[in-house]
Amino acid sequence: MSAQDPGADVKTLGTQPQTLAECFDCILFDLDGVLYRGSQAINGASETLKTLVTMNIGRCFITNNASRTPAQVAAHLRELGIDAAPIDVATSPQAAVLVLEDFVANGRVSARERVYVVGGGGIEWALHEGGFESTRDPEGCKVVMQGFGPSVSWTELAEAAYLVAKGALWIATNLDATFPTDRGIAPGNGSLVNAVATAVGRGPDGVGGKPAPALLEFALEQSGALSPLMVGDRYDTDIAGAIAVGIPGLLVLSGVCGPQEVWTSDLRSDYLAQDVTDLIVTYPDVVLEGDRATCDGAIATLNRADRSAKVSGGSEINGLRALDALKWHLLDEGFAGCARGSEIAQTVRVEWPESGLLEGKER
Ligand SMILES: [Mg+2]
Repeated sequence: MSAQDPGADVKTLGTQPQTLAECFDCILFDLDGVLYRGSQAINGASETLKTLVTMNIGRCFITNNASRTPAQVAAHLRELGIDAAPIDVATSPQAAVLVLEDFVANGRVSARERVYVVGGGGIEWALHEGGFESTRDPEGCKVVMQGFGPSVSWTELAEAAYLVAKGALWIATNLDATFPTDRGIAPGNGSLVNAVATAVGRGPDGVGGKPAPALLEFALEQSGALSPLMVGDRYDTDIAGAIAVGIPGLLVLSGVCGPQEVWTSDLRSDYLAQDVTDLIVTYPDVVLEGDRATCDGAIATLNRADRSAKVSGGSEINGLRALDALKWHLLDEGFAGCARGSEIAQTVRVEWPESGLLEGKER
């Protein structure tokens, strides 16, 4: 496919082998699981970003994490060897402020209303940038903006609930249920939003971050991208967000999703890669012929008689690319009455003798 035609058939990139990156003018990067994991940079991420600069390809760093300002995010990336400026960063509080501006434009609230902030300093910064007054005092507030912050307390959640129950406009920066830390998986902002939602009996009025479209729309406007690619490690936020704004997505396996999640996903990523370094190496064609998909020596073949798919040859990532193409081919034809990707995964047994990836042995 060409960069100018994101709706085109994605089975092949074209007749000449080429890198994925050169098909696009700007790459939107999710951060955790893509450029770093916890406190560690992904191997080769820094070099890949430097190469993109030499290729004159833009970038934007996208985060649902509301606790930090763009300057803080950029400083963190520079510590990891990735050259980044605040203008290269788009955060969920910035998107949440745009959502708030829409409510102001529609007359739901006045632009002069003070905004009760639950969450980190990134929210106050974004509100100030947007010309809104933020406060940590809930008294009389008619707008609540809720995002992640490591010191969010029960008292703040309760105050938010009281305000929302009295009719305040409630905007969440993002709804991620979990938040990865160096010590494991912790509750994310979505879990804290759910705590308030349980108390008030409804969800927020608006959401800024992925997969809601506001954050990627903001990033596209800020970067001026004409033919962007979204790179992420999660289907439910990154790939769903790319689909929501109609741009292609690349799922990398360096974060929370592994081959099992690829095989069972209901959402389709246009591209699959081990990690971001695959952006600057040749992306092989995936060729579909009947019930057989091939990708640079890897072959995935369907046996209709026993509803099995056999994967052989090539590298593991190319085997996965071939298997994924076969899966969506089967869904397109309504194989065995399946209406979703996950139903194909439940119906078709995978035989992949050379790899333990789909048996969970590698995860
Ligand atoms: Mg991520």
